[in-house]
Amino acid sequence: MTGTLRIFGAPGRYIQGAGALAAMGETLRGVGSRTVLVADRAVLGLFGEAIVSACSGAGIRCEPLEFSGEITPEEVARLATLARHASPDFVIGCGGGRGVDAGKAVADALKCRVATIPTAASNDAPTSKIYVLYDSSHRLLRVGHMSSSPEVVVVDTEIVVTAPESLFTAGIGDAVVKKFEVAQCVASGGRNIFGASACRAAVALTELCYETLRKDAVAALAAVRQRRVTDEVERVVEATVLHSGLGFESGGLSISHAMTRGLSAVRGTRDALHGHQVAYALLVQLALERRSRAFVDDVLAFYAQVGLPASLGDIGLPDATAGEVDAIAAGTMTAPHARHFERELEARDIADAMRAVEAHGAR
Ligand SMILES: [Zn+2]
Repeated sequence: MTGTLRIFGAPGRYIQGAGALAAMGETLRGVGSRTVLVADRAVLGLFGEAIVSACSGAGIRCEPLEFSGEITPEEVARLATLARHASPDFVIGCGGGRGVDAGKAVADALKCRVATIPTAASNDAPTSKIYVLYDSSHRLLRVGHMSSSPEVVVVDTEIVVTAPESLFTAGIGDAVVKKFEVAQCVASGGRNIFGASACRAAVALTELCYETLRKDAVAALAAVRQRRVTDEVERVVEATVLHSGLGFESGGLSISHAMTRGLSAVRGTRDALHGHQVAYALLVQLALERRSRAFVDDVLAFYAQVGLPASLGDIGLPDATAGEVDAIAAGTMTAPHARHFERELEARDIADAMRAVEAHGAR
C-alpha cells in the first residue's frame, strides 16, 4: 500500500570520530536517564567500563547485561526480563554485529528506543531498524523490525581500527554492493525496507558510498593495519556504516543480499562473514546484469586490492558440487529481494551466473 509513497528513514543522531565514546554522554542524556547496556562478555570486558562511565558522567544510570552471543528468541526473552527490572528509557546495543542486533531486539521487546555502538565497521547494522533472529543451530529464523530507527549511533573510530582487519574488509564488502542493489531495486519498482519507494537521497548515498570506497578504501585499509585513524579511515567508516546503512534501508536490496539466504545454508559459505558473502554475490549479480568483461575486471581489481572474494573458494567452498550450487540458487530465490531485478529470474539463472563467476575467476 505504501509502494507509491517515498520513505526515507535514518537514526536520530549519528556521531563518528576518535573519542566519540567518551563524548557521547551529552547526546545520550537527551534520550533518557536510565539505560541497560547489552553486549557479550568480551565486549563488556573491553568497553563496558568506558560506556558506563561516559553515561554516569552525563547523569545516566547504565546497567550492563551480558549477552550470550547467540540472538535466539529465548536469549532475547531472557535479556528483556532482566532489562525490565532496570526500567530503562533506552537500550544500548554494543558489539561487532550481534551485540548491536541483540540490543535492538531487547529494545523492540521493551518497546523503547535504542542507541548502537559498533566495535567494528564490519556491516551497516548500527544505523538500521532491523535485526536478525537465529535458531539454536544458527539458522536464520526471521528478520525483526523495530518501530523506529536507532535514536543514536556512536562510531568511535579509535575503537573500530583495533578490530581485526578482516572485519574492516567485510564492512567494505557489505557497502560496495549497495549502489548496484539499490539501482536494481529502484529500476524494477521494488520496495525499500520501509515497504515504500526510494527517495533520490538514498540512491545518491549509495553512489557516494561506492565512489568513496573506490577512492579511499586501499589507503584506509593500510592505516587500519597499523591501527591508525586517518582521514581515509574516517571517510571509509562513514561510507560503510552510514551511507551503506541508509542506502539499503531507504533504497532497497536485490540479488547480492538475496544470496545470503542460499550462502548461509550451505557448508563452508555459511561461516563466511556477511560482508564477504554479499561481495561474492555482487559478482553473481553483475553476471546476471550482463556487464562487460572490462567492467567486471575493474571490480575484481578493486576486490583484489582490499581482499574481497572473487569466487566460492574465497568464501569457504572451493569444491562446490553441482547440488550445492543449485541449493544456493534455490535458497536465494526464497528471499523477497530476489524479485528486485530488471527481469524475472529463476533459480537456474542464479546457478548459471554462479558458474560464470567461477569460470571468470579461473581463466
Ligand atoms: Zn548487509
